[in-house]
Amino acid sequence: MSESEKLTIALSKGRIFKETLPLLAYAGIEPVDDPETSRKLILDTNQPDVKLVIIRASDVPTYVQYGAADLGVAGKDVLMEHGGEGLYEPLDLRIARCKLMVAGREPRPGQAQRLRIATKYVNSTRRYFADQGQQVEVIKLYGSMELAPLVGLSDLIVDVVDTGNTLKANGLKPLEKIADISSRLVVNKASMKRKHARVRAFIDQLAEAVRKQQEEAA
Ligand code: AMP
Repeated sequence: MSESEKLTIALSKGRIFKETLPLLAYAGIEPVDDPETSRKLILDTNQPDVKLVIIRASDVPTYVQYGAADLGVAGKDVLMEHGGEGLYEPLDLRIARCKLMVAGREPRPGQAQRLRIATKYVNSTRRYFADQGQQVEVIKLYGSMELAPLVGLSDLIVDVVDTGNTLKANGLKPLEKIADISSRLVVNKASMKRKHARVRAFIDQLAEAVRKQQEEAA
């Protein structure tokens, strides 16, 4: 098999993996191992020329950017934060949908002094408040953002919100929407050229799978 026929697809465990599986199955690709139970980071599939690499969600754009994976599935939140350099984003998979939101206590804290915003989405947060002409101090966290306003670390948080239950359980409210989020297929720019026929066929199959899924959901 020539190198140009092989495909490596980067995925993260959890929701993205689960919701991508039916789309891959439509394209005839099924992993041999289950990443939730296997410790393997490279999963073989029923197709000898297709491998899956299982990595942290926030690392997917980096693997694809540097060509360690030809393709990947990443949330728009992660892509906005990464910047999208070296990547094509040809397809909205319409899975793992949520919203990137500013959240905090009601009433929204006044703006007498510079607001402090806790988030793992440092770049998106800076950009959003800068676009509003608002100077803020961004505090980088790696998880449990909801805690920050409760213990006085920040005035507001920026995080992805699905049902809003996590915010509510911590006495917080969604205040402003920054962006609608869903998972996107990303493609390494060089792979798109070198493996054009193979990659194009895969994108077309996934696009068809997404279309069918939307039709069935309607
Ligand atoms: P929620 O349903 O709003 O209580 O969401 C629970 C937590 O899951 C949130 O704090 C988010 O960090 C996370 N979450 C929800 N939806 C997504 C998604 N599509 N992608 C990544 N994280 C998510």
